Amino acid sequence: MKKAIPEPFKIKMVERLNIIPREERIKALKKAGYNPFSLRSEDIYIDLLTDSGTGAMSDAQWGDLMKGDESYAGSKSFYRLEENAKKIFGYDYIIPTHQGRGAEQILFPMVLKEKGSHFISNMHFDTTKAHVELAGGRAINVITRDALDTQKYGDFKGNFDIEKLNSTIREVTPAKISAIIITITCNSVGGQPVSMDNIKQVKAIADKNKIPVIIDAARYAENAYFIKTREKGYENKSIAEIVFEMFSYSDMFTFSAKKDAIVNIGGLLGIKKDTDLYNKCRSYLVPMEGFPTYGGLAGRDMEALATGLLEGIDFRYLEYRIKQVEYLGDRLREGGVPIQYPAGGHAIFVDCAKMAPQIPFYEFPAQAICNEVYIEGGIRAVEIGSFLLGRDPDTRENLQSPLELMRLTIPRRVYTNNHMDYIAETVIEVGKRAGKLKGFSFEYEPEVLRHFTAKLKPV
Ligand SMILES: *Cc1c(COP(=O)(O)O)cnc(C)c1O
Repeated sequence: MKKAIPEPFKIKMVERLNIIPREERIKALKKAGYNPFSLRSEDIYIDLLTDSGTGAMSDAQWGDLMKGDESYAGSKSFYRLEENAKKIFGYDYIIPTHQGRGAEQILFPMVLKEKGSHFISNMHFDTTKAHVELAGGRAINVITRDALDTQKYGDFKGNFDIEKLNSTIREVTPAKISAIIITITCNSVGGQPVSMDNIKQVKAIADKNKIPVIIDAARYAENAYFIKTREKGYENKSIAEIVFEMFSYSDMFTFSAKKDAIVNIGGLLGIKKDTDLYNKCRSYLVPMEGFPTYGGLAGRDMEALATGLLEGIDFRYLEYRIKQVEYLGDRLREGGVPIQYPAGGHAIFVDCAKMAPQIPFYEFPAQAICNEVYIEGGIRAVEIGSFLLGRDPDTRENLQSPLELMRLTIPRRVYTNNHMDYIAETVIEVGKRAGKLKGFSFEYEPEVLRHFTAKLKPV
């Protein structure tokens, strides 16, 4: 049994966690329409809904909040953020935004070549796809087939399928492709990393076809850790050197700072050299996010982000972070729970179609497991499967997702390794009765994005 790495920090301030009794959890879940999204956080013991904006800031970052310069224009805090970001990413131009989607909504309309032109990614994140489509573009994914095989080990399951990328560019033609988006790590397939070699190849193909490369950078530091520990030739390079090289193969980036910069709110848009594009984005930013030296953030947020960027690429922190997630995955595997393997950087994905094969996809097996995990241990997880996927817009039939997953997303520096043990014990316990669980049907189903507000009932 591999041990967890002790936390490389000590605790200066604590927040009390509530744990309500089992009978009350059953009532709370019923009231929430058997949809953990509608639970109140005070009824939750351990919240694994997301790692976005849920991290714990350091004493340095909390100290920064007092240093925030709240000047509307020319804030000192902006210049510190800009300086740190330019140095880390090797970019000429940095624009702050309120979060990742803020950067997407500014950049994508500017790089769209014409209405209906394409963006190709290993896998678009939901909001990224939404902003591609809002800008008038179309999103294509060219992830490898191995990424969808949960039991097959791969060092870099977030990689682009290079052959599929080439054939897609040939079919669509380069003139009708607005950009290639490299998502690191690849969130939608479980936080799986992309190798430096793959990034380099994608950039070479893009250059040959005169297509710009955008990095969707939410978990860039976790990706760099995987390159350092898994890719030949990088074992002796620092995380900073690896990050610098990754971003050398790109022209722009969008960044949700709520992930690897360990802040509760914030984002960045980076433009490497293109001064024209930078000027266009800055003008568009004003009515959308705010003046270019704050972009929707308070001065104090920019201070905390400037520091978080540095803390997020610290090797000791990253090693603890990735190993904590891996530790949880190992505990679950030892307990016979099937997970996307190897563990991703920020989450464990449990394969619920394997755990509860008696529940058909249209009665949402992963939702049934999530609900049971809440009842068993007060833990909130999230369904990534047919419940999330929704219906065919034409036939209104329930679509079947290729995978029925429960995501256990681990916030940064928030829960201890003892919490990981508790989570594993809870899920393993649920696993013992998973084969007897029943599914759910709708009591109320909204037209769009149903998983956020739907109400369910047991069948
Ligand atoms: C979270 C995320 C985004 C969007 O960022 P927000 O800060 O939530 O707006 C974009 N891409 C990826 C890969 C993400 O994980």
